[in-house]
Amino acid sequence: MEKILNYINGELVEPINGNYFDNYNPSNGSAYSLVPDSEKADIDHAVAAAKEAFKTWSKTSKQERSDILMKLADTIEKHSEELIIAESKDNGKPESLARAVDIPRAPANFRFFATAILHEHSEIHEMDGVALNYTLRQPIGVAACISPWNLPLYLLTWKIAPALAAGNTVVAKPSEITPMTAFLLSKICIEAGLPKGILNIVHGHGAKVGDPLTTHPDTPIISFTGGTVTGKHIASVTAPMFKKISLELGGKNPNIIFADANFDKAVKMAVKAAFSNQGQICLCGSRLFVQKEIYADFKQALLDKVSQLTVGDPKKESSNLGAVVSKAHMNKILGKIEEGKKLGGKILTGGNRVILEGNLKNGYYIEPTVIESLPFDCSINQEEIFGPVVSLIPFESEEEVIEMANSTKYGLSASIFTENISKGHRVAANIDAGVVWINTWLLRDLRIPFGGMKQSGVGREGGFKSLHFFTEPKNVCVKI
Ligand code: NDP
Repeated sequence: MEKILNYINGELVEPINGNYFDNYNPSNGSAYSLVPDSEKADIDHAVAAAKEAFKTWSKTSKQERSDILMKLADTIEKHSEELIIAESKDNGKPESLARAVDIPRAPANFRFFATAILHEHSEIHEMDGVALNYTLRQPIGVAACISPWNLPLYLLTWKIAPALAAGNTVVAKPSEITPMTAFLLSKICIEAGLPKGILNIVHGHGAKVGDPLTTHPDTPIISFTGGTVTGKHIASVTAPMFKKISLELGGKNPNIIFADANFDKAVKMAVKAAFSNQGQICLCGSRLFVQKEIYADFKQALLDKVSQLTVGDPKKESSNLGAVVSKAHMNKILGKIEEGKKLGGKILTGGNRVILEGNLKNGYYIEPTVIESLPFDCSINQEEIFGPVVSLIPFESEEEVIEMANSTKYGLSASIFTENISKGHRVAANIDAGVVWINTWLLRDLRIPFGGMKQSGVGREGGFKSLHFFTEPKNVCVKI
């Protein structure tokens, strides 16, 4: 089996303890590669390399950093096809999705931040001819970048690109469940001639690698995307060390359909928001609120559309949904569906594991599932399921839906469908979410402040917000 290796100080290296664990292909349930079972010693090695590299990289001119990252973007693009196949095999998502969304975003992330640093300007505060204050934004040191399994290369590069562009060096920990494209990225970095030590990637189990990384005295800055429970843990262990942290966490996002919405567009988007990437996107609209006047028609149209979705071989163009990421996650989702039934939920469609034929029979496939008749405040409508499961909830008034939408501990994103522009703005202003879409879903502009409220996160990333996060402002006062 192919061995994935750590990438430290510009080289592909074995974990110091020599241990590995299996990496599974969710489409057929078989182990197909080996992941380094790294430990603190590997993190210490990587952080030392990154700390040494910081001495030079932080002093490298913006133009030179930009050129190096642009070359990396070009080299990633050259390997797109290989990355698409690898991402789908590692994660279970359809190749068509990796081709349309995941992989193009990796070079886009590098190009976005490699050019953004050339356009940054600093602030000046003038004191009535007495003095001038100007703000320097300086790189901080070694950034710890921790990413999840749902959009593996997309989210990994979303962190390391601004960190490196801003002049920091990085030790990254990808999810142990989807390490392959990060490994391929290591090889691409070597091919692109990335200066050694500026990016280091250490693979392994969450706590075993993540804890030594986040609590290391030489990683003053941490960017984490993942579950709320892990985020809470990271916040608690790093707070006493006064680290700068950015947490992008879970969501239980409302998708609100008013009776005056463009019906066909809303149905189409509701299906996309619920089932893209098998429902494993933090921004998925998993609570579908529909106004009573159109509830019955909307439900029927939704079920018609869902019945046209194909769960199948991720390699086939015809597959709308592939496999969910792991056996454990599949069982968790199926358990949640059972819990929904016990709570009185009615399964309108789906609800079961799908067994495909031939060598895919052990893959982790689940039918797109629509549940109704569950109270808005029950566990299924409050906790993130992170699978192809959407809950239909009727509502009467604007006030009622705002209250229900805001009832969870999360506040990541929301969608509102209405043709009444004033209502759209009004509801958007009253929803607890860091990102609100009106008449669309997942339309991403990389410049916007991206992140969640409440337990969906701390801080914002995106555009200059990312560059500000990865730099320390320093005010210099000059007496005139
Ligand atoms: P986890 O929180 O389980 O893991 C995220 C990352 O943290 C993984 O690399 C994981 O490693 C690592 N990790 C685990 N334990 C620790 C630790 N003690 N210290 C440091 N790192 C640790 O999330 P999932 O991978 O299951 O991802 C799904 C979650 O991510 C969902 O809740 C989803 O909503 C959220 N998410 C949020 C987004 C946002 O922008 N707000 C975007 C995408 C996803 P390992 O996998 O090896 O355990």
